[in-house]
Amino acid sequence: MNKIKVKTTIVEIDGDEMTRIMWQMVKDRLLLPYLDVDLAYYDLQLKNRDATDDKITLEAAEAIKKYGVGVKCATITPDKNRVKEYGLKQEWKSPNGTIRAALDGTVFRAPILVKNIPPAVRSWKKPIHIGRHAYGDVYKNCEYRVPEAGKAELLFTNSAGKELWRGTIQEFKGPGVIQGIHNTDKSITSFAKACFTYAYDQKLHLWLGVKDTISKTYDAQFRKIFEEEYQENWKVKYEEAGLDYFFTLIDDAVARIMKAEGGMLWACKNYDGDVMSDMLGSAYGSLAMMTSVLVSPQGYYEFEASHGTVQKHYYKYMKGEKTSSNSMALIFAWTGCLRKRGELDDTPEVVEFARKLEDAALETVESGVMTGDLMLVATPDPKNRKVNTEEFITEVAERLRRKIEQRE
Ligand code: NAP
Ligand code: MG
Repeated sequence: MNKIKVKTTIVEIDGDEMTRIMWQMVKDRLLLPYLDVDLAYYDLQLKNRDATDDKITLEAAEAIKKYGVGVKCATITPDKNRVKEYGLKQEWKSPNGTIRAALDGTVFRAPILVKNIPPAVRSWKKPIHIGRHAYGDVYKNCEYRVPEAGKAELLFTNSAGKELWRGTIQEFKGPGVIQGIHNTDKSITSFAKACFTYAYDQKLHLWLGVKDTISKTYDAQFRKIFEEEYQENWKVKYEEAGLDYFFTLIDDAVARIMKAEGGMLWACKNYDGDVMSDMLGSAYGSLAMMTSVLVSPQGYYEFEASHGTVQKHYYKYMKGEKTSSNSMALIFAWTGCLRKRGELDDTPEVVEFARKLEDAALETVESGVMTGDLMLVATPDPKNRKVNTEEFITEVAERLRRKIEQRE
């Protein structure tokens, strides 16, 4: 059999724990038997980030800038426990945070829908997509543990060294905490542009929710920039396409989402998007039933799974126990990446392969073969069968093989 040629190098970013195990299986069983692809490989497993003083993470981000499209496995963001567990030199920053900061992108997430897993929210008929601003706020903060009574101030000095502004945060009567966060007009503008473009391309309404009644300068800036972007570049197009741009307060947005039909892109600030995408993911079935892509304003793409490294399953796996971890999101990270590569390279056979692999994965679940996380939420059916991590991938591989051979 002739392998399908992927024209341009793909940046492959490997990760940790159970997702690393599944990553290898997906590559060996579903991709490499069919594709002739050059992979620029960056190993971001925690040990290697530690050994390279985290330079490998920046190199991976640079590689995405060079080649345009990358795919990333989940990685551990170390905390105190991980520092001990892996004997780390320091508590390295979140690789996702580092890569997002380097690419200044927006993360778009969408549920992977299958017929036999109804969403937990009855009104949801269509997918709800989330656009998560991937720069700044609490993810690029400056924090301080206040040890004793005293005064905390916010001070801005311009680049000429002139003090432009000073404000009191708090007069502390005893110990406490403070945090400084920021965002930039440039990043918020590219977030707005990315959201209007994505929603328009996918024929979705666009919602934005922030707390500008409380945060009259910071959150208000998001509302203002989105409104300007809409008026200047999108109003006419949206009206012609029958699409709405809808602004409301974040808490109102949350309440309305729970009663909505779906079919919108929900633009969220960084933290809201982090939290809400996990809520949506699990309401649509499982954290593993969600796609995730980072889109930069320069047109770089990084596809990933939105869940973590599934640590608890990994510990079981290491003890030799069978796990039932779901590889759907990892498979869709690869198919998303291949489809985008195929579109950019103008190689329809690569796009076609991605579609076949997605269909194989969806049909496997719809046939009743699924991992434990989905068994809990699938419509009960005597043909439902819980399989382990490897068996699931084997089933998908078998369906994929049949789809590929049908054409030959
Ligand atoms: P997690 O890996 O997302 O897993 C949380 C729980 O969700 C799991 O214990 C499991 O539930 C369920 N789950 C998630 N993905 C699943 C899958 N593919 N198949 C089946 N069940 C799945 O989050 P975590 O345990 O809080 O974090 C573990 C590590 O991941 C942390 O070190 C964190 O830093 C890292 N993390 C990385 C990323 C990323 O790189 N994108 C994102 C988030 C977290 P049950 O145990 O009930 O089966
Ligand atoms: Mg999260």
